[in-house]
Amino acid sequence: MFDTLQDRLAATFKSLRGKGRITDADIDATTREIRVALLEADVNLAVVKDFVAGVKQKAKGSELSKALNPAQQIIKIVNEELIDILGGDTRFIRFAKQPPTVIMLAGLQGAGKTTLAGKLGAWLKSEGHSPLLVAADLQRPNAVQQLQVVAERAKVGVYAPQPGNGVGDPVQVARDSIDHARHGLFDVVIIDTAGRLGVDEEMMRQASRIKEQTRPDETLFVVDAMIGQDAVNTALAFEQGVGIDGVVLTKLDGDARGGAALSIAKVIGRPIMFASNGEKLEDFDVFHPDRMASRILG
Ligand code: GDP
Repeated sequence: MFDTLQDRLAATFKSLRGKGRITDADIDATTREIRVALLEADVNLAVVKDFVAGVKQKAKGSELSKALNPAQQIIKIVNEELIDILGGDTRFIRFAKQPPTVIMLAGLQGAGKTTLAGKLGAWLKSEGHSPLLVAADLQRPNAVQQLQVVAERAKVGVYAPQPGNGVGDPVQVARDSIDHARHGLFDVVIIDTAGRLGVDEEMMRQASRIKEQTRPDETLFVVDAMIGQDAVNTALAFEQGVGIDGVVLTKLDGDARGGAALSIAKVIGRPIMFASNGEKLEDFDVFHPDRMASRILG
């Protein structure tokens, strides 16, 4: 997804190699090229402005190390600024002191929430937890069945509405699932909620009510990295409408430009916590800002 950005930045740094010293004019030219590369990759304009200002200030300041050559120094600064816009340190799940830990997934329809519930479940299981997936998406036809299939594949528990047991009321299903987890000795509850095709008041209201009733330790906003600047706008809407703790980027295996998704952490002030890059259970990882920055810088 970040191949073009990678190539553009590599070309920018190449022109600095071999220079014994870097003048302010070199720094201006380099930051101009970085600006264009980031904008072409669809990084949010406000984020690009901050980024470029940060690089310029550090590069022209007194922080340059004598141990590195000029090109290395600029790359080091760009790397630090990239890590910063991607959220800084890796942010791991905060587990509840008293189980179960409740993780709520929110996002638009098709973002990849149900798929992610399985991936997160399989990953938590491999880390020694006993997760329970909860089918609180009663909106989309087959969503409940899809979650059951995903849970079976991930070999984790699933809680789905039974006839006569809160069918049609996702808030009730979500609330009941916590008692079910306690009795069944599940230590993490992952609630899959209903999305809509676009930002919608009813969706926000339902997600907010599920949140109120289950008091999640983590409310994760799941977003398709392929949707461009809409990813940033939707993240802002969910942050304002529901309140989110962290972001999960999905479809990073796609061939869209992806820069918008990388802007979310900075724009909404919430960290990217996980990344999904395929349809299989194992196409999933904890998001490490430093590793993503290294990947982009090649
Ligand atoms: P939900 O409506 O948010 O629950 O979304 P789903 O989990 O049903 O996912 C929507 C579609 O995206 C499905 O066809 C998934 O297989 C697919 N999908 C989910 N995550 C990824 C991913 O990381 N990469 C790719 N290529 N497809 C994905």
